[in-house]
Amino acid sequence: DASVVWFRRDLRVRDQPTFLAAAPRALGLFVLDPALLAPSGAARRTFLFRALRSLDESLGGRLLVVEGDPAEVVPRIAEAVGAGGVHVAADYGPYGTRRDEAVEKALADAGRELVRTGSPYAVAPGRVRKGDGDPYRVFTPFRRAWAEHGWRAPADTDASTVEWLDPTDHGRVALPDDEPVDAELPAATEDAALARWHEFLDDSVGDYSDARDRPDRPGTSRMSVYLKYGLVHPRTLLADLARKRSDSAGTYRTEIAWREFYADVLHQRPDSARKNYDRSFDALPTASGAAARRAFEQWCEGRTGFPIVDAGMRQLRAEAWMHNRVRMIVASFLVKDLHLPWWWGARHFMRLLVDGDLASNQHGWQWTAGSGTDASPYFRVFNPITQGEKFDPDGAYVRRYVPELRDVAGKAAHQPWRLPGGVPDGYPEPMVDHKAERLEALARFDLVKAAR
Ligand code: FAD
Repeated sequence: DASVVWFRRDLRVRDQPTFLAAAPRALGLFVLDPALLAPSGAARRTFLFRALRSLDESLGGRLLVVEGDPAEVVPRIAEAVGAGGVHVAADYGPYGTRRDEAVEKALADAGRELVRTGSPYAVAPGRVRKGDGDPYRVFTPFRRAWAEHGWRAPADTDASTVEWLDPTDHGRVALPDDEPVDAELPAATEDAALARWHEFLDDSVGDYSDARDRPDRPGTSRMSVYLKYGLVHPRTLLADLARKRSDSAGTYRTEIAWREFYADVLHQRPDSARKNYDRSFDALPTASGAAARRAFEQWCEGRTGFPIVDAGMRQLRAEAWMHNRVRMIVASFLVKDLHLPWWWGARHFMRLLVDGDLASNQHGWQWTAGSGTDASPYFRVFNPITQGEKFDPDGAYVRRYVPELRDVAGKAAHQPWRLPGGVPDGYPEPMVDHKAERLEALARFDLVKAAR
């Protein structure tokens, strides 16, 4: 009557339907999978290891951590404990889907079952469909159908829902030490996730609609990393929001819906992780060669000479996180001012972001690049100066992350080249002429239109 609970992106004990399916006795398992760890970047690996340490504590030190290919490891452990079922929350990403199919097959060969209960989403990808059964390609109708579909109430679980088996004698490995990460990371515990959520719910959700676009203010929830690793489930957030009847709670719910929409889109089009969702964008000429690589380096280092772009790229290094408005601005700059392929920027983000999530990241990039689902129209090119002045009106965000501009008062920080003494020492001149590059971007877009 023993089973296995195989944790993946659900590193918590509350609101954990797999526990109800696996009770009463189970072995808690996490597999360190080199195929997933290698591309994760130091910030995400370190956050993950800390979250696992905390989960192990919640389970009374009974989390079995092993290393290897899950298709080999999981069936071996299921056999060792004589488990009939291995319980998971379903994964819908391109790699996770393939991995789970391989594990399922290997388990079935030995007469065991992979039991999927729930997913990292309120509504599992693939569930929300149009009347004719087709998936949605546009967000707003998806969001409506998603809300109508609805979701379960949070599951009432904690660590004691299951009697955890002793994990010794199964090849348990110690969790790797933290890697050196320059960025300051949020606390990686389930309690910290819930504390942050309640702080946001009590103090900030009411202002969210107004404050969420202001990178100079702490107006967003910072829940992305906790959702990424499942330290909290979106169901829990949605249930709490339903008790707040403000417009801002509705706005926040819409952001959760974006996360679910992009997971759905990636599930229906796994190729969109690497390729243009709208294939007519394959005709867009992008920069290449040594000059392109140098320009990319400048962007990565936050030395473009456009303060809001540079502040964002430096926030990414300092915190392994960047404000959503600034993610859009720096992404637009890479694609439309530097004419570089969006996937160069997406890869850099995935290396550094602690909340790096394939679905939200690749589709956030494709949205900005114009090649994604209901993407912003390509001809709407973000102006990095006016964006900066609008969303960081006093220049406080720029000054926080770009020390060279620390002494420039007010919104003048967005155009340091106009200061009487010129650009302050150590800060670069703008690397491109935005007006000229905007026209260049539009000319390149004509080739996409011609290819349609
Ligand atoms: P809040 O404003 O508090 O939003 C609440 C939650 O809603 C977020 O935690 C997130 O789960 C979800 N959400 C909000 N906006 C979006 C969105 N546009 N798309 C999908 N989900 C959203 N988000 C990631 O989680 N991982 C990524 O790798 C990622 N890469 C991005 C890349 C680009 C180019 C862009 C434009 C956006 C990206 N986003 C990504 C979406 C968004 O920027 C972050 O979710 C948000 O900044 C996280 O901060 P927060 O939790 O304080 O957000």
